[in-house]
Amino acid sequence: MEQLVISDFNLGIIAGGQLGKILALTASNWNINTFILDPDDQCPASSCATAFFKGNYLDFDDVYNFGKKVDLLTFEIENINIAALKKLKAEGLKVYPEPEILELMKDKGLQKQFYLSQNIPSPHFQLFFSKAEICEAMESDKIQLPFVQKLRTGGYDGQGVVVIKNKNEYIKLLDGPSVVEHCVKIKKEISIIVARNIQGEIKCFPPVEMLFNTSENIVEKIICPASTSESMNTVATELANRIVSDLNFVGLLAVEMFIDEQNKIWVNEVAPRPHNSGHHTIESVITSQYEQLLRAVFNLPLGSTNLKTASVMINLLGEPGFEGKVKYEGLSKAMSIEGVKIHLYGKKTTKAFRKMGHITVLANTIEEAKSKADLVNQILKVKS
Ligand code: ADP
Repeated sequence: MEQLVISDFNLGIIAGGQLGKILALTASNWNINTFILDPDDQCPASSCATAFFKGNYLDFDDVYNFGKKVDLLTFEIENINIAALKKLKAEGLKVYPEPEILELMKDKGLQKQFYLSQNIPSPHFQLFFSKAEICEAMESDKIQLPFVQKLRTGGYDGQGVVVIKNKNEYIKLLDGPSVVEHCVKIKKEISIIVARNIQGEIKCFPPVEMLFNTSENIVEKIICPASTSESMNTVATELANRIVSDLNFVGLLAVEMFIDEQNKIWVNEVAPRPHNSGHHTIESVITSQYEQLLRAVFNLPLGSTNLKTASVMINLLGEPGFEGKVKYEGLSKAMSIEGVKIHLYGKKTTKAFRKMGHITVLANTIEEAKSKADLVNQILKVKS
């Protein structure tokens, strides 16, 4: 895109969390100005961007007025006022990924209907309006137990998801429009980040394996490459390709999948933005997910997604029992380990399990990276 090299180009990023911060830092390598919209003027990206605008991304006027200041608009969260994005697009602003796609993806019910219509394997589902309606269906055996209930909108990091094993567990049900899904016997959870640029070039990052802290439902480790067979990687990559092609998607899409006990691959959900499961790409892949997003939305050739080295990414979470002004413990000891790359997001305050940073451990083998990551987990603590 010529504008990029001949003049000031203002890229708008909605939300200034860690993903927005790293995207802004990456954009500055290409001399792109970054404008951030976030309700918190202390948010991680505020100090790295060219300009910061305080505002609520669910408010029509805040999003619309912000969009009027920029040459191209992207985002790092899903919960955005879609009407404002659509109006900006109608008035000629480039918004990538496009508002209609974000609208589909921010609603897990619409996502599921899309997979069904395109024959993309995804766990069997039913849609419900309320908790009462689900209870009624359970009473009359219209739902097979166990099942997973997911609120259609607003959930993240497992908030808004419950597993119901038997009828007595109805008290755990969440209220609100929901997807009720068949409970998959999961052997592995993997993620593939795929990019598609405006002219339709597609590139997938290698599949990663996601290990969760099951009590908090937060990713504990991202392992790259995943310990999956070549043939499974091919199937998973083809699915990610199909989703972005079917949607004429432009931008970066994280596709989360399950591998069940029969080695069948199911698409769980997608996120149209940089993703936690792609942090490792900063150091371990030739092109980072952030650079790839910029290449996609500026219609530049997509970068190589070949691996440079094996890696394990761990989230640096707020230590339970500590809340308030942040203090890092064990930083220098952790940094003394070869291959340990520490990212601190700059959040001013910590609380239990808050994502305060991440660490990517590079090593010759996954085993070595894993044991170093375990060591870093023991050494490095976020306290107050
Ligand atoms: P979120 O958007 O909050 O991350 P997910 O839909 O990814 O929610 O669900 C969170 C976790 O719940 C998944 O990572 C997986 O471990 C589990 N889960 C979700 N759907 C199913 C399912 N159909 N069967 C079994 N486990 C599931």
